[in-house]
Amino acid sequence: MVAADFAARAHRDHRRKGAHKAPYVNHLIDVCRILTVTGSVSDPAILCAAMLHDVVEDTAVTSEGVRAEFGDAVADLVAEVTDDKSLPKAARKRAQVAHAAHLSPGACLIKIADKISNIRDFLIDPPPWETTRYLGYIDWSVQVVSKLSHRNSALDQLFDDICLRARAAA
Ligand code: ZN
Repeated sequence: MVAADFAARAHRDHRRKGAHKAPYVNHLIDVCRILTVTGSVSDPAILCAAMLHDVVEDTAVTSEGVRAEFGDAVADLVAEVTDDKSLPKAARKRAQVAHAAHLSPGACLIKIADKISNIRDFLIDPPPWETTRYLGYIDWSVQVVSKLSHRNSALDQLFDDICLRARAAA
């Protein structure tokens, strides 16, 4: 998969926040696996965008670069799930809640799979955060997901389950 190779190279210096410092690409693979295995998503543009969903936000790759390499459908999805890094963190988090209601169906699926992966990582390999920060992240994720207009019952169920387990473990 060309997008996996592209994403692995772009994120090659990034690690996840957990103590094991897993390569960042593991998160991207996890999001794709959640979409395909749990959500039965098979649209190549959505899966390609899922692999690239953090590439504009977190690396030197630009939206135009994604467009040139992967076309409009993928670039538009990636742009929809990319936060505006010029905003301060709190404003960015508020903006993500506000934008969630306006996401396209494909972007909704990527968004919920991303939150599932992030929260499940708390259980597998937690970052060194205070309990309030964990719980704050889960609460904020619930707010974002509750605004998504396109639902997938299998992903909804996994999200609810992972939030429940992460709250119990916090
Ligand atoms: Zn992500």
